Amino acid sequence: MGAQIGIDLNHAAELLSGGKLVAIPTETVYGLAANGLDSTAVAGIFAAKNRPTFDPLILHVGSIEQAKTLCSQWPAAAEILANAFWPGPLTLVLPKAPQVPDLVTSDNPTVAIRMPNNPLSLSLIRSLPFPLAAPSANPFGYVSPTCAQHVADQLGDRIDYILDGGGCDIGIESTIVSVSNENQVTVLRLGGLDLEALSKVLGYPVKESLNMHSNPQAPGQLDQHYSPNSAMLHMGDFSIDAILKDLQTRGHDGLGFLWFSPQQAQNFIEQFDGQTQQALTDSPLKHYYLSNNHSDREAAMNLFGTLRQFDKDGCKRIYFSWAPDGGLGRAINDRLKRASSKVVH
Ligand code: AMP
Ligand code: MG
Repeated sequence: MGAQIGIDLNHAAELLSGGKLVAIPTETVYGLAANGLDSTAVAGIFAAKNRPTFDPLILHVGSIEQAKTLCSQWPAAAEILANAFWPGPLTLVLPKAPQVPDLVTSDNPTVAIRMPNNPLSLSLIRSLPFPLAAPSANPFGYVSPTCAQHVADQLGDRIDYILDGGGCDIGIESTIVSVSNENQVTVLRLGGLDLEALSKVLGYPVKESLNMHSNPQAPGQLDQHYSPNSAMLHMGDFSIDAILKDLQTRGHDGLGFLWFSPQQAQNFIEQFDGQTQQALTDSPLKHYYLSNNHSDREAAMNLFGTLRQFDKDGCKRIYFSWAPDGGLGRAINDRLKRASSKVVH
């Protein structure tokens, strides 16, 4: 039997206090939470997700005071960022306090901390005497969940309860920055807070350290991550003739297009002759749009749900286009890039 979905905060708190796993809503994506100071409970998260233990977790807190108990230093830049953006989609990586279990940080001397902006989860965390360790509530490497049902579909039989906070407003994971003692702020993962907003508050441009490694400092940095089962192919890497040939040989079976918006699709398709236009828009060929209004926020909110939809629809190959680069566009493209770096057969 699968985990119950509900809004019973007392039940969630009891389960978590007893070392159990509860999925929680946040404004970014759903998290798979456990008592962040209890190594055994935290081990359950890695097991349920099939997550390698080199991939550290984020501790979710209900106040800045609580955050300070989890790190050994709280530089001025951390205070500025937390005041400006918490609760919100920004994770701070800081030197860890001794009470934080090594399993949470994957033996790193630093710990990642965030205050999520969801009323249910904030009440839950504030009612507990410990922070919640929570990575995204999906099997490792797959697309992150943005509603309770996504969690139930994939982890329902491995966890104890799913707190239902509706759909996620932001829809992609938090932006992660490390803050050094010298107040140097370095972006480790792009996410739901755009870098322009960060730089504005700090008064200077942030440094970036977003390189992909096989043994990453932040696992959001793995080459392949956030992947649906269907193969994702960047349209710009193919000539229109190659795409048309693919359509011809495979028919429409399991083939589709992912666009940032209808406007982007139209601009692309319009450049070709009538016959090509016909081939590209022929039903039942599937076209998916991240945003109807050409908005980066709407696109981010819809991204993971749309990737899941390919799999539900039995799509085998998806041709996609990049989002425009501004605002959350960079973070969306980062996820698309990793989702598409799976070897295609
Ligand atoms: P998830 O919420 O599934 O994206 O996973 C949490 C992410 O937080 C990890 O994948 C890392 O990218 C990041 N993270 C957690 N702790 C650290 C840390 N100490 N240093 C750098 N990144 C971290
Ligand atoms: Mg994740």
